[in-house]
Amino acid sequence: MNAEIIAVGTELLLGQILNTNAQYLSTKLSELGINVFFQTVVGDNNQRLRETLGNALRKTDIVILTGGLGPTKDDLTKETIAEIMGLPLELHQDSLERIKDFFSRINRKMSKNNEKQAMLPKGSIVLPNDHGTAPGCIIENDDKIIVMLPGPPKEMQPMFQQSVYPFLREKSPYIIHSRVLRIFGIGESSLEEKLSDLFEKQNNPTIAPYAKQGEVTLRITAKCEDIETAEKLIAPVEAEIRNRLGITVYGMEEESLEEVACRLLMEKNVSVATAESCTGGMLGEKITSISGISACYHMGFITYSNEAKAELLGVSQETLKQYGAVSSQTAVEMADGVRRKANADIGISITGIAGPGGGSEEKPVGLVYIGMSTREKSWFKELHLVGNRERIRNMTTMNAFDMIRKYLLNYPDEQDSFARGEC
Ligand code: ATP
Repeated sequence: MNAEIIAVGTELLLGQILNTNAQYLSTKLSELGINVFFQTVVGDNNQRLRETLGNALRKTDIVILTGGLGPTKDDLTKETIAEIMGLPLELHQDSLERIKDFFSRINRKMSKNNEKQAMLPKGSIVLPNDHGTAPGCIIENDDKIIVMLPGPPKEMQPMFQQSVYPFLREKSPYIIHSRVLRIFGIGESSLEEKLSDLFEKQNNPTIAPYAKQGEVTLRITAKCEDIETAEKLIAPVEAEIRNRLGITVYGMEEESLEEVACRLLMEKNVSVATAESCTGGMLGEKITSISGISACYHMGFITYSNEAKAELLGVSQETLKQYGAVSSQTAVEMADGVRRKANADIGISITGIAGPGGGSEEKPVGLVYIGMSTREKSWFKELHLVGNRERIRNMTTMNAFDMIRKYLLNYPDEQDSFARGEC
């Protein structure tokens, strides 16, 4: 089965609101194994809405519309569709009672034009709205299905989940089920190289890579009758990918790298302190965005100047003079210093050149050192990053989380002094 999503609203065309309904519905329909062929946006205009719906019905089995179910004159989705389908609108008594009840619950007087919302195409399946006034509805006509949903996402989403999802689930013989693997520390092209034979023979499940800033995600998707069968199809492929990519697979689904690193800190009850130069507190900010991390995060310094590095963290004048602020030696002394000051298990430091100015031949923009100090030993990672200031700072922060993660997982390779990381 295939579908078109039509979002109705002049506000969408004017760019005043983002069409998040289409994104939500596309995700849900894909879970149901329904292929979304088109997403369309049309203004509150009878003529153009008629044309859009007519085209959609010629091309697809299911048309889902959102918006334009409100009480005012420009809300004309229902009227237009009823007209095209040749179905009269009739009062739906239950919906009228619900609308009255909604107004009495919020202690407001219902205006006359709200009654218009209880008028629904004859013979349609009515979808109650638990979070607003406009009911939705489903029209089944020959082999076509038309679904009308309210525009506000907080009304549309629960209505879809409660009423439309089970309805379409019955109609669709398949489900689509995915597992997302999140990968850091390997580029998209080397990943494709490592997995090329899997990509070539993929069928069910399929494997789709997607690169976003600094990381790659792999979506393994199976299409079959139920989730259990899908899990069985996905499991061996997932195991093979994990086997080939090893430690670079850091997580699954929505969990970010900082969430994984901080979860490990909390699980293992390991305390941490940070000392940052070119990231100016970005690492600390990301750590503190994780709920519950106060049990592990002791303190963070932003030491931008040489004086601050020396005074607050105890970096020696000789080190600063001989090797400079952006050096492995300074990074390690910063990490040692902040760990001792905080009496933490881990000290982590960042010093580098985020650009666009400030680089030299010897120390170009993008050269960054991350220092790591534990009660047993200290080490560092040298990065040669490309991109603008924002990317360099972001990538640095992600690498710092990755170092924390690898240390907590006892991954040894990174812990040799002079470990060198290129990305
Ligand atoms: P209401 O009963 O509140 O009038 P409605 O079904 O008539 O709802 P619209 O009037 O078209 O819906 O839109 C109401 C609000 O819902 C918009 O101002 C916007 O905030 C949100 N909305 C509408 N369509 C979308 C969309 N496609 N994506 C995200 N938000 C939307």
